[in-house]
Amino acid sequence: MSICDLALPNITAIQAYQPGKPIEELERELGISNIIKLASNENPLGPSPAVLSAIAEASKHICLYPDGNGFSLKNALAQKHQLNINQVTLGNGSNDVLELLARSFVSSSDEVIFSQFAFAVYALLIQAIGAIPVISPALDYGHDLDAMKKLITNKTKLIFIANPNNPTGTVLAPEKIKVFMKSIPSKVIVVLDEAYTEYTTQTVNTIDWLDTYPNLVITRTFSKAYGLAGLRVGYSLSHFDVANIINRIRQPFNVNSFALAAATVALMDNDYIVKTKELNDAGMQQFKLGLSNLGIDFIPSKGNFICVNVATDAGRVFEALLQQGVITRPIGSYGLPQHLRISIGQTSENERCLNALATTLELNYD
Ligand SMILES: *Cc1c(COP(=O)(O)O)cnc(C)c1O
Repeated sequence: MSICDLALPNITAIQAYQPGKPIEELERELGISNIIKLASNENPLGPSPAVLSAIAEASKHICLYPDGNGFSLKNALAQKHQLNINQVTLGNGSNDVLELLARSFVSSSDEVIFSQFAFAVYALLIQAIGAIPVISPALDYGHDLDAMKKLITNKTKLIFIANPNNPTGTVLAPEKIKVFMKSIPSKVIVVLDEAYTEYTTQTVNTIDWLDTYPNLVITRTFSKAYGLAGLRVGYSLSHFDVANIINRIRQPFNVNSFALAAATVALMDNDYIVKTKELNDAGMQQFKLGLSNLGIDFIPSKGNFICVNVATDAGRVFEALLQQGVITRPIGSYGLPQHLRISIGQTSENERCLNALATTLELNYD
């Protein structure tokens, strides 16, 4: 007998989430410096000075437990989004909130619908619970809401929608999501994952729909545009009854003191978000132009990353780019073995990545 045989079968069947390779690891392996990481959709601006001083201040109190209710941050979020504070739930990253939702509402006999090519964490959470994943075929690499709706059965408990989606960068028009919400049974919970919403130019505020749809939960994060990935903080906005339920099972101090302090300050720092978006828009343009000039196909993206079709084994291209000090993300585990996901970086980083791609694929600029 192996000790693994003692574990639950749904757990032993899980393939662990593959995170982007850390810079230090590559430095150790290759003994090279000057490595750039365009693998995990992090903010290339680095943390804002306001955030760094908030962390320095918070460091004076780290012998104390954090505020378990996260009052200041929740209050700031409630004000920003014009909601009641009891509609906000904080998590150790929005992944934490996604897990709280799944654990609160989904049993092993329930079905959960998500799209082909959708964010990998949904499948992981469902497998961890032992629930039944129902995968809806993608349409042009994005979510097909009509197909998702057709998959709803009596057993459907929850639906995940990532908008924009990671890793494909596809978006759904908010109007379509609204029609979807209107047309599905109110006993099905819809989790609208808006991790990249700050990068979009969306003018419809989905948060306004929470009044109409108690079965709608919106999740957001400080990991991407707010530049706090290392601190782990995200949140959900929902009906207060849903917040009340999921708060019962979260760990009492799931968000640490640094994360609380930094996120509260980051939320007020609108300049940082504006700069982030400008840099991302310019970098996206740079990639679109550069890739087109090289004749490399890509999926149009509304996030801070772009999914590139290298038309060959992307794992090998990934390795070749690594040798040149450029970390990207192969997404074969998503069923896209010829695609690489590349995060938009600083101008010089984007340039280096495009050149490394050209070298690797032996392509010339037109
Ligand atoms: C990055 C990402 C998140 C955020 O995860 P955190 O736990 O908040 O860092 C959530 N959803 C999607 C689709 C993402 O790409």
